[in-house]
Amino acid sequence: MRKIHLIEGYSKIAAGEVIERPASVVKELLENALDAEADQIFITIENAGKNLIQIQDNGKGINEDDMEIAFQSHTSSKIKSADELDNLHTLGFRGEALASIAAISQIEIISHPAHQDYGKKLEIFEGKIKNNEQCGAPVGTTIKVANLFFNLPVRKKFMRSNRVELGHITDVLTRYSLAYPKVHFKLIHNSIVIINSPAWSDQNNVEGKNNLDPYKYAIQTIYGKNVSSNLIPIHFNDGNIKLNGFIGSPEISRSDKSAASLFVNKRLVTNNKISQLIINSYKDYLMRNRFPFYIIYIDVPPNKVDFNIHPSKKTVKFEDESKFFVDLQIIINDLIIGGFKQYHTKMNE
Ligand code: ADP
Ligand code: MG
Repeated sequence: MRKIHLIEGYSKIAAGEVIERPASVVKELLENALDAEADQIFITIENAGKNLIQIQDNGKGINEDDMEIAFQSHTSSKIKSADELDNLHTLGFRGEALASIAAISQIEIISHPAHQDYGKKLEIFEGKIKNNEQCGAPVGTTIKVANLFFNLPVRKKFMRSNRVELGHITDVLTRYSLAYPKVHFKLIHNSIVIINSPAWSDQNNVEGKNNLDPYKYAIQTIYGKNVSSNLIPIHFNDGNIKLNGFIGSPEISRSDKSAASLFVNKRLVTNNKISQLIINSYKDYLMRNRFPFYIIYIDVPPNKVDFNIHPSKKTVKFEDESKFFVDLQIIINDLIIGGFKQYHTKMNE
């Protein structure tokens, strides 16, 4: 008697790994829009994303004959083989997001690449294509994801209040706008504008605007003048590790660690080891139970990092990691101490 069978609806189980909550959908679709080189990304959500998440971008679009395959598992235009994992230049590489989202929601997608005369619309229900037709549409892609987890009650049950879920979505968008200042991001929830972070290039041409560095401009748009005027820029480049960003003066320290942002190769990551290194370097400047506010962008050659640790791609491993962290501690220490010295000299002038 056979006891082992194929699991019916396994795609829903697999999807659960990638899509934990509405904010995971936003993150994946945002990454796709950024990979498509959009410079305008507008997100409209209803009921904290539980009823509807719509993302409209003005990126490269999807060719009509690629539309259906894009929703199958393990299909991507970004890499052709697993061997290319050590030369990644895109945020996406797993070819899983669209398939996962489609397995646990209802989707309508319209895409119009510039070289096509028309757009193409697909409707997908539980991963199955229900409708495929031509339509008029602006160049770019619009995806509507409705009724997330409608067929996955265990996950649906675990969604938190609208306040909490909206907080996660806002957080994703906020962080991405710090790393992509030349992109115009907008988030509308139940018809109310929650985030509007116009592209630096548009604002910069407006007369009377400061000639702010694009990254500083994004920080000021998101966190306001008080934060941006308490930031000290840092720069390091030895041809291998590049480190740029801003360290906050003690005046804008926080009561929790999570306000700070760390990007590796323009990808938002969480790394306890690096955040601890930064906290170590701050120790003489902060009171107990206060944490530094910083936005740090580390860039390393793509073959020195691995983002394929967890399906969410938020975890990163570095080549020769223990040595890397020793080097990084020295770099960060010098930058922070040097930064504060200059800052205090300036304050006392
Ligand atoms: P991945 O991003 O890992 O390649 P996805 O499942 O997220 O996998 O997307 C599958 C493919 O669909 C992408 O490789 C890309 O070619 C295409 N795609 C998805 N979203 C967009 C978009 N907004 N604009 C253009 N192409 C897209
Ligand atoms: Mg993707």
